[in-house]
Amino acid sequence: MTGRLQDKVALVTGAASVPGLGSATALRFAEEGATLVVTDLDGPGAEAVAERIRAGGGLARAMAHDVTDTAAWDAVFASIEVEEGRLDTIVNNAGIAILRTFTEFTDREWIRQNEVNLHSVYYGTQRAVKLMQKAGQGGSIINISSVAGLIGVQGCAAYAAAKGGVRLFSKAVALEVAKDRIRVNTVHPGMIMTNMQKVALEDNPDIYQQLSAAIPMGHFGEPEDIANMNLFLASDESRYCTGSEFVVDGGLITQ
Ligand code: NAD
Repeated sequence: MTGRLQDKVALVTGAASVPGLGSATALRFAEEGATLVVTDLDGPGAEAVAERIRAGGGLARAMAHDVTDTAAWDAVFASIEVEEGRLDTIVNNAGIAILRTFTEFTDREWIRQNEVNLHSVYYGTQRAVKLMQKAGQGGSIINISSVAGLIGVQGCAAYAAAKGGVRLFSKAVALEVAKDRIRVNTVHPGMIMTNMQKVALEDNPDIYQQLSAAIPMGHFGEPEDIANMNLFLASDESRYCTGSEFVVDGGLITQ
């Protein structure tokens, strides 16, 4: 039986964190036959995920990569051209969440939040489109936004600006590259139990119960819930989907 991503090459950024959306996505893609390039600011962490994939019989290599650094992006793409020779999917997943009251933000924090969560998506998307256009075989670009990129969430002004930007940036690019069979979509996770959420909850354990109660399905999602959506978007099963947003949130923003 062949996998749903057999013979495809995928780049996943921010893939070191376990539990994290990037590592779960990389592992799921590998199970379905993709060759993975996993990158992260945390190089050894990315290498550990690549090693886990290889130990399971998959194909993966890792690179240390700061998504705010354009030279690092160029190095990642140069190596993909040499090593894999093509790219079918990029998951622009790396992100941080600087959450605080709007008036308490420093200018530097605002810039940092947008550099990591928005500018990086432009850097990765543009380089991926150029390589995919050169190969002429289409491709799938998956940009990780958030429910905070769709609705107002208190205490999230800078994060929301970045994630909302990712959503409309992706739609605009989708229109430009549809003719090349390159699809660009956004994924909007709700509350998913990863290291990012664990760090946020550490300061206030009581809030976990309150947040869970606010979710119609009554609990946080698992990284695999996002990995499975990313798998659908990376596969040819989503071949007619582009410029769209895919919400995975247990019903949170349906209310
Ligand atoms: P996480 O903190 O568990 O993992 C994020 C990873 O990104 C880490 O491995 C980190 O080292 C890496 N990273 C951070 N800055 C980087 C940089 N400058 N260059 C390269 N790598 C960098 O977070 P997660 O929950 O897995 O989040 C993944 C994505 O999903 C993020 O974009 C986040 O905003 C988004 N998201 C998460 C949730 C959630 O509930 N977990 C909800 C909505 C959206």
